Amino acid sequence: MVISDGMMCPCGCGMLLVREELIVALSELQDLVPSEIVYHSTFRCTPHNVHVGGHHASYHLHGLAADLHITGVDLAGMYQIVSEVAAFRDGGIGCYADWTVPGVHVDVRDWHARWGHYDGEYAMGLVGLTTAIARTER
Ligand SMILES: [Zn+2]
Ligand SMILES: [Zn+2]
Repeated sequence: MVISDGMMCPCGCGMLLVREELIVALSELQDLVPSEIVYHSTFRCTPHNVHVGGHHASYHLHGLAADLHITGVDLAGMYQIVSEVAAFRDGGIGCYADWTVPGVHVDVRDWHARWGHYDGEYAMGLVGLTTAIARTER
């Protein structure tokens, strides 16, 4: 099972909500990963979400999103791996170059969304995503 303490709201409130669709997709991802998945943030309570901001965050509020990195894999490789999971490929994927450890946001929304995040800003679309990846390769 992929549920872990790292998925609880990071503010320390002890709340955790992870929807079935997300658990299934993360289990599929786990099977594709040669190393370890480190979860930065999965569920966020409303106060914590306000605290951290971010306009994609409603998916975290509903237990439908996870922020993570995969140890020993670069951002380009992470994007490739998470794209192999149908629910993420057909849902939302964002690449974050400016986290302490660069990583990806994945969510199981029912429409296709891609974006990148670098220099503290969002850059929408596949162009934004590939730019974020390129920033980690400098
Ligand atoms: Zn909280
Ligand atoms: Zn996220």
